[in-house]
Amino acid sequence: MHHPIVEFRDVSFTYGEDRVLDRVNVVIREGAFVGVVGPSGAGKSTFLRLAAGTIRPTRGRMLFGPDGDHRAVRLGVVPQTETIDWNFPVTVEEVVLLGLAADSRRVPWASRTDRREVRDILDRLGIGELARRHIRNLSGGQQQRVFIARALIRRPELLLLDEPTSGVDVKTRHDVLHLLHSLNHEGIAIVLTTHDLNAVAAHIPSLICLNRRVIAAGRPHEVLTSANLKALYGAEMVIVEQGGMLLIGDVPSAFRDEHDRDEHAEDVPVAHFGEEPPPHDHGGGSGHDHAVTPDPGHDHTDAPHPDPGHAEPAR
Ligand code: ADP
Repeated sequence: MHHPIVEFRDVSFTYGEDRVLDRVNVVIREGAFVGVVGPSGAGKSTFLRLAAGTIRPTRGRMLFGPDGDHRAVRLGVVPQTETIDWNFPVTVEEVVLLGLAADSRRVPWASRTDRREVRDILDRLGIGELARRHIRNLSGGQQQRVFIARALIRRPELLLLDEPTSGVDVKTRHDVLHLLHSLNHEGIAIVLTTHDLNAVAAHIPSLICLNRRVIAAGRPHEVLTSANLKALYGAEMVIVEQGGMLLIGDVPSAFRDEHDRDEHAEDVPVAHFGEEPPPHDHGGGSGHDHAVTPDPGHDHTDAPHPDPGHAEPAR
C-alpha cells in the first residue's frame, strides 16, 4: 500500500476576496507522478504552495505524512524559472548547496561531504562540469537541472515543480520529462504543474484537472475528454487519438464556422444580399462532432482514479 505523503482535505484558499481554490480533496501518495493541469490563473501554483506547506488553507486541512500528523515530510521544490533572479552572483554549486540551508541542524558553511554530494548530484544530472559556472551563463535546460539538483540534495520523498517545461525548447522539455520519469522510478513522488496538454500532460501517468476546483483526476485517457476540457478551459477542444497518443487542440470559432459551412455547403448561400441569412444549424454537436474522445464511457467530471498508487480525489 502506498502511504499518503500529502493530503488536501476539503481545502479552500482565498487571496483577499478571491477564492482561488474551492474544496479540493486530493491525496498524493508515495510513488505518484502527477500533473496538475489547467489554464493560467486556475490556482496551480497555489496548489503547489499548499502542498509545500508555504501557505495554509483558508478552510479545510492539509495533512502531511502517512498519519497526517505533520511528521517531517522531505519535500523538494523547484520554482518557476521566471521567478528566479538569474543575475544574482552565485555559481551552480552554491545554488545547490542552498538546498541544504533550510536544514537548521547544519552549520552555515558547506562540509567536504556536502560538496562531494553536490558534485555527485550534478554529475548524475549531466551538468557536473558546470559546478563553478555562474547561473546566468546556462541554457534553459541547464538552469532547470540546477534547481532540480538543489531540490534533490534534500533527498525528497516528494518533488514539487512549477511549470518545469515552460519556456524551454522541445529537446530540453523531453530531457526534463525523461529525468523526472527516472527520478520517479527511483521512488521519488513527483507533482508538477503544466498548462501544456500535448507535450506534457498527455505523457504523465496521472492528472488533476484544476480550475479553482478539481474538475477531474485520473489517467490522461480518462480525464482528457471534451467535456472535462470544456469545463477546464471554457472552450471546445478537439481530441484525436493516434497510435495510443492523445493530441489535443483548441477549435477557434472562425475555423469551426468555416468547417461547418463546408460540411453543410448546400445549406449555406454562397452570397447573400438584402435579407438576414437563415440561422445556421449547429445541430447541438457543432465543433466536436469530429472530435474523437478516447473513452466516452469515462466522460464525466469527477472520475476517481483507479490506481491508489497515484493521485486521487480523497472522497
Ligand atoms: P496558476 O498557477 O494556475 O496560473 P495561481 O495559483 O498563480 O494560478 O493564481 C491563481 C489566482 O490567484 C490568480 O487569479 C492570481 O492572480 C491570484 N493570485 C496568485 N497569487 C496571489 C497573491 N499573492 N495575492 C493575490 N492574488 C494572487
